[in-house]
Amino acid sequence: MNVDQERALSETEGSLPDGGRPAAVIDRAAITVVQLPVRTPRKHGIGDVSGKTANVILRLQTTDGIVGWGEAAPWPVFTGTAEAVAAALDVHLRPLIIGADPFRATEIMTKADRVLVGHPEAKAALEMALYDIAGKIAGLPVAELLGGRCRDTVPLSVSLANPDFDADLEFARSLVEDGVRIFKVKTGFSGHAFDIHRLETLRATFGDTIDLRVDYNQGMVGHEALRRLRDIEAFAPDFIEQPVPADHWDTMAQLRTAIDTPLLADESVFTPADALRAVKAQIADLISIKVMKSGGMRRGQEVSAVAEAGGIACYGGDMFESGLAHLAGLHMIAATPNISLGCEFYQANYYLAEDLLAERFPVDNGVVVVPRKPGLGIDVDEARLAGFAVETRG
Ligand code: MG
Repeated sequence: MNVDQERALSETEGSLPDGGRPAAVIDRAAITVVQLPVRTPRKHGIGDVSGKTANVILRLQTTDGIVGWGEAAPWPVFTGTAEAVAAALDVHLRPLIIGADPFRATEIMTKADRVLVGHPEAKAALEMALYDIAGKIAGLPVAELLGGRCRDTVPLSVSLANPDFDADLEFARSLVEDGVRIFKVKTGFSGHAFDIHRLETLRATFGDTIDLRVDYNQGMVGHEALRRLRDIEAFAPDFIEQPVPADHWDTMAQLRTAIDTPLLADESVFTPADALRAVKAQIADLISIKVMKSGGMRRGQEVSAVAEAGGIACYGGDMFESGLAHLAGLHMIAATPNISLGCEFYQANYYLAEDLLAERFPVDNGVVVVPRKPGLGIDVDEARLAGFAVETRG
């Protein structure tokens, strides 16, 4: 650093209140485990969901009363558990949070990776709460803090995974009336014939007015995959997602070259380092980015950057989130050109019995609208949060 740079930095510091100390620091962190009822049972290649989903809500507050919200949406068969998230935030990350300047998110998240391995959902919750506060103080939506938006709306995909397909078909009809035009069919949980029947029926019912996508959630093993995928290709899906287990990278690479439909990696790629290896090993044409896998929006953007350098476009995936975590994903996608395949942020409006946000998550005629208010854009309804709470720490 030369003399001019040092002078510029000291002048900047001197312009801040209290001789360079931040105007406000975080002094409260409340962690709430919630059980959110879901509307229907769902099956997937690697596990089922029914009744309720357990998520963790983080409420940070600064010394001058600004509140930031974060959510972790773990799934025990995919990323982790609510119990582990609550302990990670309360025991291991809380010391980094209390007394911290909410504008130093990059520093805090770097420290979080040093003190705690894994736990990406807990880190995602922390990062989104920090950005929510920073955006509210700065008067800017989170997308603007992440580099600025390159899109104002994101096409919505809704996943079909109800073992009662008649109910799912009615669900799809109502969604088409709502303007939804992308459906992801969860396959590989109840036999190949059932998968073919559902795809056939959807194409017969809606023709080419809808885009179909297929997600196996690791539900096949290598020897059965190729013949089945060739059958699936007859229904012209946009992509086929994670047909085989996450660590079967050679099989992914072989399937990718054997079929014409783009292959998408989800469970195989969590981090930027995973993305780099995926590019080198040529396991996929596309990658699904989820803040719950990457450990936050900035890491998600890094996954996208690595993928983009390798010629791979990305998709905005999610877990069983409320509208709160959807908002973080939405701001990330808005600020990341290469996440260009739409999003699946449908749970808040179409899967949870009730969302946690104080206003309706912004879906309009089949697209999700990126908020323009400061921070994440919508706060949590605290009374509703209390109603779903099963454990509170701090
Ligand atoms: Mg998936």
